[in-house]
Amino acid sequence: MTATRIDGKAFAAKLRERVGEAALGFAEKVGRKPGLAVVLVGEDPASQVYVRSKGKATVAANMESFEHKLPESTTQQELEALVDQLNADDAVDGILVQLPLPKHLDEQAVVDRITPAKDVDGLTPVSTGRLALGLKGLVPCTPLGSLMLLKDTLGDLTGMNAVVIGRSILVGKPMAQLLLDANATVTIAHSRTKDLADVVKRADIVVAAVGRPEMIRKDWLKDGATVIDVGINRLPPEPGAEKGRLVGDVAYDEASEVAGAITPVPGGVGPMTIAVLLRNTLVAAHGNAGIEAPEGL
Ligand code: NDP
Repeated sequence: MTATRIDGKAFAAKLRERVGEAALGFAEKVGRKPGLAVVLVGEDPASQVYVRSKGKATVAANMESFEHKLPESTTQQELEALVDQLNADDAVDGILVQLPLPKHLDEQAVVDRITPAKDVDGLTPVSTGRLALGLKGLVPCTPLGSLMLLKDTLGDLTGMNAVVIGRSILVGKPMAQLLLDANATVTIAHSRTKDLADVVKRADIVVAAVGRPEMIRKDWLKDGATVIDVGINRLPPEPGAEKGRLVGDVAYDEASEVAGAITPVPGGVGPMTIAVLLRNTLVAAHGNAGIEAPEGL
């Protein structure tokens, strides 16, 4: 059997298009574009690339992009003052502080300061708590994008056995909550899980969010399982090459022989993250303007 390749890139492009259209509708109604502020502290090259591509995607989706680049030497007080300023700015609907922050800054304290109505990354205690309670709210982008791909592939997830490998605040935990809300039977595995391969073998749905290149092998998977590979890992470069290949947490080629459907890396979950960020900004903008967000986003 050869698994269906779940095309996250194509799904994300369509989502961005729907969001872009809805953003035009918002601007007509409200008299301003939805706005996303991204805060970057320091010179981390990967973060700079992410922030640049978020800015471009925001503008392409008919939204206003506000980029705040602060030096590595920024103090906690200065960063919190910027968050306060963005919280109070009516042109800003979403605030994203690019993580990780430099070591001398207290990440949690900065995130906690973001007003929940603008928490497009879904990481404040209010957003996290609302998700745990099953209430409407802003949900972290990567797990929400993964759920969209799962529903698009499988339809109703009711009664399916789902195993999420990884329990981070950013991916694993919210992913498990979303699957539970979708009536799956959910197991969360992590570095202390015993007999991980056996746990994964029971799963109709496997979500891998570990950060270990090609850890999940073909013989771990149940026949026909749907596999969402969140991992992004760069292998060491081959001799003569400048950069190593990007791979996921799942050994894609061999897993494709057993799985029913699987996301590739790159081109699977990765593109969904930015598309959902734009979607979350649009939803936040509607909330901030006191109007209903359109259905189907
Ligand atoms: P974290 O490092 O925060 O969490 C990793 C999780 O994996 C932890 O819960 C850890 O367990 C678990 N783990 C580590 N080793 C093992 C093991 N041998 N067996 C089982 N579980 C293990 O990472 P993130 O959740 O932030 O990210 C996970 C991956 O997803 C990374 O590759 C990251 O690059 C990628 N990512 C991709 C995004 C995208 O847009 N596609 C967005 C965000 C992340 P424990 O808690 O016990 O330590």
